[in-house]
Amino acid sequence: MAPQKVAVVTGANKGIGFGVMKELCQKFDGIVYLTARDEGRGQAAVEELKKLGLSARFHQLDIDDAASISTFAEYIKKTYDGLDVLVNNAAMAYKRASTAPMGEQAENTIRVNYFGTLAVCDALFPLLRPHARVITVSSCVGHLTCVTGDEPAAKALRDKLASPSLTRKELCDMMNQFVQKAKDGTWKAAGWQSSTYSVSKVGVSALSRMQQKAFDTDPRPDLVINHCHPGYVDTDMTSHKGPLSIDQGAVSASYAALLPPNTEVRGEYLWHDKQLVDW
Ligand code: NDP
Repeated sequence: MAPQKVAVVTGANKGIGFGVMKELCQKFDGIVYLTARDEGRGQAAVEELKKLGLSARFHQLDIDDAASISTFAEYIKKTYDGLDVLVNNAAMAYKRASTAPMGEQAENTIRVNYFGTLAVCDALFPLLRPHARVITVSSCVGHLTCVTGDEPAAKALRDKLASPSLTRKELCDMMNQFVQKAKDGTWKAAGWQSSTYSVSKVGVSALSRMQQKAFDTDPRPDLVINHCHPGYVDTDMTSHKGPLSIDQGAVSASYAALLPPNTEVRGEYLWHDKQLVDW
């Protein structure tokens, strides 16, 4: 008998992650885990789904907490010994009006959005089964051209990020260097822009492209990871200014999570309408 399929969505208690839950509960042929860092908010979201006639399971997962990540990975390994879908949705963003110092914003945003996502991947990728689908929710500001500027330093950053030979260590070093330069006030001279959120999303986009390359040589067949821009969505993160509903914002991530066997959509950057965009 084929093992029961399992899907996991991070940061799924509200916003786009909750929208993805609705889609997967309806379309994924298996168990869907709604994960959230706060148990109360997560359980409440499972109850919301229940009211819609949808069934999901809950597990606590804080992508900024190594112990939480390893507890969750061990639970999935012990209970199912495999994973079929991972939606890396959880992320944070400072509000534009925030008065927190640039260094503090950079440290927290890169740690959660980039290193937190990476830690979840590191813990769960060994469990991926053949034909597993991973989607990392990036952003339009995760586009390479959001490392703006004509000056040589910005161009050098873009070239390095886009280089097919960029290694994971080099990418992690770049993220750490950005945080250091944000702290000592030299990030602009180094070629980076001032949105720490944008840098974190460029980071996860570059990471997912690199992860697809590793999947391509993995003995498990047909492992796929893509990254997407969900659109400008009416959520807490945008202070409800985005014009798209959470259901509309869930379209690209859900589509990528459910790509059929042997899809050619791999290592791609998807727009909210599912179109492939040159990164
Ligand atoms: P929300 O702020 O509405 O939701 C974010 C979710 O992530 C919440 O469930 C939040 O949990 C969770 N989260 C935050 N930090 C952690 C953590 N350390 N561990 C686990 N979960 C965490 O944001 P959106 O729904 O708008 O964003 C979802 C994704 O889409 C993000 O990756 C975002 O960057 C991206 N995106 C959003 C856009 C938009 O227009 N909304 C545009 C482009 C990209 P909690 O409730 O506990 O805070």
